[in-house]
Amino acid sequence: MRSYQVVDFGAPLVEAEAPTPKPQGAEALLEVVAAGVCHSDLHIWEGGYDLGRGKRLSLKDRGINLPLTMGHETAGRVVALGPDAKGVAIGRTYLVYPWIGCGQCAVCRRGDENLCAAPNCLGIHRHGGYADHILAPDPKYLIDLDGLDPAAMAPFACSGLTAFSALKKVAAGLNETPLVIIGAGGLGLICLQILKALGGKGAIVADIDPIKREAAKKNGALAAIDPRAPDALAQLTAANGGPVMAAIDFVGSEETSGLAFAALGRGGKLVMVGLFGGAAGWSLPLIPIKAASILGSYVGNLAELRELVDLVRAGKVEPLPVTRCALHEAGQTLTDLRAGRFIGRAVLTP
Ligand SMILES: [Zn+2]
Ligand SMILES: [Zn+2]
Repeated sequence: MRSYQVVDFGAPLVEAEAPTPKPQGAEALLEVVAAGVCHSDLHIWEGGYDLGRGKRLSLKDRGINLPLTMGHETAGRVVALGPDAKGVAIGRTYLVYPWIGCGQCAVCRRGDENLCAAPNCLGIHRHGGYADHILAPDPKYLIDLDGLDPAAMAPFACSGLTAFSALKKVAAGLNETPLVIIGAGGLGLICLQILKALGGKGAIVADIDPIKREAAKKNGALAAIDPRAPDALAQLTAANGGPVMAAIDFVGSEETSGLAFAALGRGGKLVMVGLFGGAAGWSLPLIPIKAASILGSYVGNLAELRELVDLVRAGKVEPLPVTRCALHEAGQTLTDLRAGRFIGRAVLTP
C-alpha cells in the first residue's frame, strides 16, 4: 500500500510503500475512496498547539508517534475482513468513525470514545486515510454510505461531526434566539445547515474574510459581520436583536473568543471548538456575573455521527462542496489549506 506520512513534524510529507495489511481479529481493511484534509491535520503536521502566554502543547510529548499517516475523515470500500469482523460487507462503501478510545473505560462504555483518556484515533494515534488503504479496528466504526457520495461524506467524520456535537450542546432555545457562529470555514457552513435542520431560528456569522462572509450568507446566515470591525460587538448585538444566548467559536483565538464572550448575555453559553490557539483574556468576575457557561467540544461520538449521516440521507443536511485533490498532492493540499485557499472542504481521492 502507498501512503503519505509525517516523518518529521513540520517537514514535507513523505511517500511510503508498505505491504498491504491483512485484517486480524475484528479488523476491516478498506480501500480508501476519499480522505478529507482537515484543519486539525495542520496542527498534527506542525506538531502542536499554541497554548498562549508562551506555552505550547507538544504532540510528541503527548505520545503521537512518527511516522504517521494522517487522515481522520475517511470513506472507503471494504476489501477484506478479519475472521471476527461481522456486520459489514465486502464491496460496500462506508464512512469510518475515527475517534476511537480504549473501549474499556467508563467514558468509552457510555459511548463517548472521543473523550477517552487513552485515545487510539485513526490518523492521529494510528494510521489514517492519506493512503490507498486503511485498517479499521472493528466494523462497529463503519457507517454504511449506501449510495451517498463518499467524497462529499468524508468530511462529516470530523468537521460535520464537530459542528453537530457543538450545536447539540446549545440546541435548547435556538428555535427562539439566534446562534452566533464564529468562523465561516467548513465547520461554520455545515453548522448553519444543521441548525436549520434542527429547526433553529438562524445564525449570525462572524468571519474576517469577506468571501467567507458571502458564503455564509449564501448558506442562510441572517447576517455576516467582520469581527475585526471597530464596532464588531455592537454589530453582533444589533444583528442578534440583543445579548447573545449561544455562540460557537470555530476559530478559537484570543480575539474571537474575546468577542464571543463580550457578546454573551446573562445565562449565555459559549462553546469553544477551534484550536487556533492563545489564552483567554476575559475578566473572571464577569463569568459569575453573567452566569456564563464556557464549554469545550471535541469532535463527537459514534452515535452522533450515525445521527448526522441519517440527517444527510433524509435530505435535511446537504454536504458542502468539496475540492477533489489527488492522493499524491496531500502535501500541497495541506499547504493550500493553511493558506485558506479552499471554500468548503478539500478531499484526497486516490
Ligand atoms: Zn479534523
Ligand atoms: Zn476509554
